[in-house]
Parts: sequence; C-alpha cells; structure tokens
Amino acid sequence: MKELVEFSRKYGSDPELVLAGGGNTSMKENGVLYVKGSGCSLSTIQAENFVAMDLEKLLAVLKKEYPASDREREAMFLADVSAAKLPGEEQKRPSVEALLHALFPQRYVLHLHPALVNGLTCGIAGEKTARELFPSAIWVNACKPGYTLAKLLSDQIGPDTDTVLLQNHGVFYAAETPEELEKLLQGMMDVLKAQLPGELPEELEDVDLSKPFTPDHIVYCGVGPTLPDTDNARLLYRDAQKINWYAKAFGGSLPLKKELVDFILNWEAESYRKKKA
Ligand SMILES: [Zn+2]
Repeated sequence: MKELVEFSRKYGSDPELVLAGGGNTSMKENGVLYVKGSGCSLSTIQAENFVAMDLEKLLAVLKKEYPASDREREAMFLADVSAAKLPGEEQKRPSVEALLHALFPQRYVLHLHPALVNGLTCGIAGEKTARELFPSAIWVNACKPGYTLAKLLSDQIGPDTDTVLLQNHGVFYAAETPEELEKLLQGMMDVLKAQLPGELPEELEDVDLSKPFTPDHIVYCGVGPTLPDTDNARLLYRDAQKINWYAKAFGGSLPLKKELVDFILNWEAESYRKKKA
C-alpha cells in the first residue's frame, strides 16, 4: 500500500500527467483490488482514499446482461460495482473505471491523462500513428466510459497487455512493479516527444469550448460559451490548448463525438466527480 500511495502522489503531482481529480491508480493483493476513490485527487491521496473491492465479485459483473438504456444500465452497473466493495467500505465510491483496473492481471495499474499522450489520442491520425509507434499497445476508439469501455476491453486485454490508449481520454499502464510503470510511461513520453516539431510554445491558440477533447474538459470547463471562473477550469482549458498543439504532430485535433459529450453531460458518475471537485 505504501508503494501505491507513493507512486499515485508522484504522478498525481505532475501537471503534465494529470490534473484536478483526473486519473486513477490501483493495486491487487490476495484477491482484493484497491482502487482510487472517485473524485479524489491523486496528488494528495492517502491509503484510506482507496476502496478495497472483492476482485472476483467485481469481475463477475462482466457476465451480467444489462439493459440498452443508458440510464437503467448505468444505475444497475453502479449498484453491482458497489456490491463488490469489501465490508467496511460502504461509504466509499470507487473510480468509474474500477472494473477496467480489475481486468489487468498485473499488480499495479496507472491511468493518466497526459496532454502529450492526449495529443496522440485526440489526433486525427492518432490510431494509425499509435499502431506504428506502439505496436503492442491496445488502441480503443472513443466509447462510453465505465461499463461499456470495460466490456469492450474484457476480451482484448491479455496477460501481456501493459498499455491501453483510449481515444479522446488518456492511457492505462499495467505492471508488476512501480519501476516498470515508470519505464512504460517514460518510454511513451520519449517516443512522442521525438515526433514534435519543437518545444511547446508559451502562447497557444484558443480552443473552442463547445467541442471538448476529453471528459476532463467537460467536467471542469463545461461546454458553454464561457469558461467557469475556477482554477480547475483554467488548468483544464490550458490542457486543451496543449492537446490541440500536440495533436498537430498527429494529423490535427479531433474533438469528442457529440454523442459522447451528451452522454457524459448526463452521466451521474461524472456529476459526482464534478461535485467533489
Ligand atoms: Zn480517465
């Protein structure tokens, strides 16, 4: 647990890797998944902010049939995930991606939203470039987060999967040790940096808030005509400007599909994260 808290804070404190309540981490030990609670900030996380869950019970959620309606499915899914919490954890709420963490066989999972990686995941040529630069990584086209994403990945993640790139979202790394996580992250950053035309300029082009790049931008900046007057909104706006610039090296930037923006705007799980911010 000490190692989990340590690397969570280390990566959570680097604004190039994750901002506000974004990103999450987990550890598996003796059939228990310890996953970050929804909405807490990785930078200041403590051992008690992780939610202890029965790994087997959590994975059994994948075998259930859910209704097609977003509202009904998400409510049932939330209840089933909640039921996998260990006794004593009832008051806590696990990250919306808890089930995805459970799918990786490795001990540690690190999920980040680095602007540089999102330059690739939000790039028009992102998928093609990712397949060339990171042939062993899984690329997932933008889809509904939570249940839909985990279900989609459940038959793709194998024992050797250590990297998953999520279009318009971020990246997952999985490894047996924190040192290996660091290697995966740094290796990817170095390869991506080598694709850029130069250093990130201080002055960056404005971006259109009505066309967010990632769920973070929706949660913290909204999709209205003006930016909310909060520090997190300003941080995430700058993040969107950076993604837009980095994406020029990957065919230009592609915003989230309108259908997904609408889903996230109406998703109870993200309004929970917003409230905690
Ligand atoms: Zn995320």
